[in-house]
Amino acid sequence: MESFSKTSAGRKAVPIRRFLLPVMATLIFMMIGYLTVGLNMSERIQAFAYELEEQTLKDVMLAQRNSTNLHYLSKSLQDLVYAGNPQRARTAYVNNWGLLTETVFEQHDEAKPLTQRLIESLQKTWSLRQEYEARRNEVNVDFNTFHQDLLAAAGVAAELSNASTNLLIDLRLPIVQHLDREAPHRRHLEVLDGAARELCTAAHLPSDDERRTAFLSYCENMRELPRTLGTKLDALASARTEFLAQAAAMNEDAQNLSHVYAKLETSDRLGLIDQITRFNDRLFSSFSIAVFLAMAMATAIALAAFWVLRPLGELREEMRRFLETNKLPKMPEGSHIEEINDVVEWLMHFCNMLHQKRASLSLLTSQYDELLNESNKDPLTGLANRRAFEALVEKADNLPANSAALMIDIDHFKRVNDTRGHLFGDQILKRFGELIRDCIAQNDVVYRYGGEEFCLLLTGVTAKAAYNMAERIRLRMRRISLADASVSETGEAPSPLSVSIGISTSTKHWAEKDILTLVREADLALYRAKCLGRNLTVRYEPEEVRKSSPFADRMEGSHA
Ligand code: GH3
Ligand code: MG
Ligand code: MG
Repeated sequence: MESFSKTSAGRKAVPIRRFLLPVMATLIFMMIGYLTVGLNMSERIQAFAYELEEQTLKDVMLAQRNSTNLHYLSKSLQDLVYAGNPQRARTAYVNNWGLLTETVFEQHDEAKPLTQRLIESLQKTWSLRQEYEARRNEVNVDFNTFHQDLLAAAGVAAELSNASTNLLIDLRLPIVQHLDREAPHRRHLEVLDGAARELCTAAHLPSDDERRTAFLSYCENMRELPRTLGTKLDALASARTEFLAQAAAMNEDAQNLSHVYAKLETSDRLGLIDQITRFNDRLFSSFSIAVFLAMAMATAIALAAFWVLRPLGELREEMRRFLETNKLPKMPEGSHIEEINDVVEWLMHFCNMLHQKRASLSLLTSQYDELLNESNKDPLTGLANRRAFEALVEKADNLPANSAALMIDIDHFKRVNDTRGHLFGDQILKRFGELIRDCIAQNDVVYRYGGEEFCLLLTGVTAKAAYNMAERIRLRMRRISLADASVSETGEAPSPLSVSIGISTSTKHWAEKDILTLVREADLALYRAKCLGRNLTVRYEPEEVRKSSPFADRMEGSHA
């Protein structure tokens, strides 16, 4: 087990592995959860598919059974209506009743009212058939009677024996068949009526009393029968019409029922399809939830990473400031991640080291600068030395316009050394250094060029200003006493020091002369000052110019 470490702020920190493990475990957990949900859904889809298959099979079977039953029903209905045999019609009625009250027609609520209506229709049709049958029987009975009477009357009239007359009576006319139209029977009635009228006349009246009474009785019966039979035939016709209309209505009800079944089966399937679609929609919405969860999880991870890496961000800012300003970075607040804390602490350590190195480097640089400065300085006079002059020459480019070089040499200095010793000579040189510094501006630099030779470089001066400066220096040096190296406050010392000065200027334009040329020309001018007697300031002039003026020597220099 890895132990917890503490940050500099005293907070507990864990290794990144310890932090990542719960995140990964959560992720795996969520994926398993998602898979489980997915599998569960798939199982449900399968179960639903089985259910759908079962339902479809059941529906197919039901449809087949209903179709058979409906076919049978329609046949039985035909029998009920058209079978001439009343027994057969009754059997059909019983069968139909049984079919309609069977549960198979009750399976759909939508079919119930139509089934009920068909049952009622069936009952009504049956009762109308009964009524029609009754009327038909009545008609047939009357026809029979009529026929018998007619035959009997005829027999009597023909003076047949009773046995022969009975034989005639026994002959039956065909009766009105089931659903026969009334027209032929009406015609038959007319024939019978015609025959009866023809027979029942005085001509056929028997002479025998007994037979005459029978004859008259038959004729009497036959006189009323046509009217009664006509009425009954009318009633029979309307009963037939009513019965057939009812039968048609019943057929229509049966048709409607069968249509309803066909429609119900179709709509049931549509309902199932709709259920599958809805289920798919639910599945899709589950997928959306999963996507949303994944997004939320990614956001949470990003936030956690931000929180974890925050100290690194702070450190980065501190480091940037450190690099820009060399200001030592502040230690960022401790992280909960051990590795980050370590990295931060090590970086801080390196920054401290770098800071210290920079500090010591800057000390060394300043010491080096100081040394360099010292090495460029003449220790005796405090002026810039020949090395500084050489360095200037090395890095100086061409001179700008209005530059001037003054070469100054102390006159007969060797004599001073010889007579008063070198230490005294040194004192004189020191005084010279002090005085010349007072004469020049802060930016001007005077170099100790050689033993008692000095070089002053001026910029931004005209030739006249340079000359005036040289003269000011020459006269100022005369305040130094060669007797005791003191400096007179009021004016020239009793035994004054003298210097000779050579001047060269570059006044025309930039890069007219380089520094070495200028110094060489000033040196030549100094040489001429020495030649002309010393304690002089002499301007450099090219040889040909100088020679063309015979008084030039006197004119260019000046004595004290
Ligand atoms: P002039 O320039 O007028 O022609 O005569 P001079 O005597 O000055 O001539 P020169 O330039 O030959 O002599 C320079 C002398 O300066 C020689 C040397 O003894 C002396 N000298 C050079 N450096 C020092 C120094 O640091 N201290 C002392 N005391 N004397 C020095
Ligand atoms: Mg000299
Ligand atoms: Mg000299």
